[in-house]
Amino acid sequence: MKSVELLVEGWRKVVHFTDDASGLNALIAVHDATLGPGCGGCRIFPYASFEAGLEDVKNLSRGMTYKNAMGAIPFGGGKAVIFADPKKDKTPDLLKAFGRAVDSLDGLYYTAEDSGVTEADMAVIRSVTKFAAGMESKGIGGNPSPFTARGVWRGMQAAARKKFGAESLEGLTVSILGVGAVGMDLARLVHEEGGKLVVADVNPAAVDEAVSRFGAIAVSPDDAIAAKADIFAPCALGGSINAGSIGRLKAKVVAGAANNQLKTPDMDQALHDRGVLYCPDYVINGAGVISVGLEILGTWSALEMNRRIDNIGVTLAGIFNRAEAENAPTGKVADSMALELIAKGKKAA
Ligand code: NAD
Repeated sequence: MKSVELLVEGWRKVVHFTDDASGLNALIAVHDATLGPGCGGCRIFPYASFEAGLEDVKNLSRGMTYKNAMGAIPFGGGKAVIFADPKKDKTPDLLKAFGRAVDSLDGLYYTAEDSGVTEADMAVIRSVTKFAAGMESKGIGGNPSPFTARGVWRGMQAAARKKFGAESLEGLTVSILGVGAVGMDLARLVHEEGGKLVVADVNPAAVDEAVSRFGAIAVSPDDAIAAKADIFAPCALGGSINAGSIGRLKAKVVAGAANNQLKTPDMDQALHDRGVLYCPDYVINGAGVISVGLEILGTWSALEMNRRIDNIGVTLAGIFNRAEAENAPTGKVADSMALELIAKGKKAA
C-alpha cells in the first residue's frame, strides 16, 4: 500500500492511498478534528478524474464538520472516496485494503456507509480495522437510513409548526423527490400521520410502491419541486434547489434528506427572500451519523437514539427562531451555530 499526504489548505489531513494488489485508489480527508476524530462515510464512485474525487471528498468532509457539530456528537469532519464502480469493482480485497488505509490513520478518521457501500461491506472493512461503524450488532446501530428518515420527519414537524402553526403533518401535502431508502421510509411516516403525498423517482418501481402503499400521487422528477404541496422534501441527489428550479417551487417549507440540497450558496438567501422555511440539510439529515457516532462511543441505545432524533426538531426550532430574530437565512444561521460550537471546543481544548 502506498500513501501520499496531500497538503490541502484548511484541511487537517488528506491522504491518497493506492494498492496495486487490490486495485484500491482512495482518498481520505479529515477536515477538522477540533471536536474529535473525523467521522463520515465512505463513498465508492467511478469519478471521471482524480480532481473530481478530491473535490467531492473535500466538500463532503467539510460538510461533516458542520453536521457532527450540530448533531452534538464529539467528532470532527471526515470522509473517504474510493475511485471505483461499486457494481463492478467492489471486492473483499478492495474493501480490506481500504480498511487498512483507515487503520493506518490510527483513529484520526472513523468510516461508515455512504453511497456504494452497504452494511455487509462495512463488516468486511471492520474485519481489518476497529475504526469503522454502521453495522448492526445485537440490536445496536446498523444501517443509518431508518434513523435518517425519522430525523427528517421530526425536522419536518418542527418546520410545519413554525411555518403553518400545525401541530402535526395531518392534512399537509409533502412532495418527496426520491423514494429510496430514506425517502420511502419518510413517505411511510408522513402517511401514517395523515399527510398527503406526491412522489417522484427515476425508478418506476419505487414510485409504484409509494402509490400503492400510501396512495401517493406520482409526478415526474422534474415536476416534484413544482407540485402543489406545503412541503418539498428533496431525498434524491443534491442540487435540486438551484437558480433554474427555485422559481417553480410552490411549497413554503423545504425539509428533506439529500446532502447539499442548495446547488449554490446564494439559494439560502433566495429561499429566505421568498418566505420559504429551509431546514438546513446537514441538520435535518444528521440522525444517521448520530447513530454511527453513538455506536463508536459505545453509548448507543434505542432510547438515546430516539432522544437524539427528537432533538433534531428542537435544534431546528432554535435555528428558525434565531433566523427570524436576525432576519437571516436559516442555512447561514446553522453555519454560524456550528462554527460557534467548534470555537467553543477549541477554547476548551
Ligand atoms: P437511495 O439511493 O436509497 O435513494 C435515492 C433515490 O433517489 C433512489 O430511489 C433513486 O432512484 C432516486 N433518484 C436518483 N436520482 C434521481 C433523480 N434525478 N430524480 C429522481 N429520483 C432520483 O439513497 P438514500 O440512502 O435514500 O439517500 C437519499 C439522499 O439522502 C442522498 O442524497 C443521501 O446522500 C442523503 N442522505 C442519506 C442518509 C442515509 O442515512 N441513507 C444520511 C444522510 C443523507
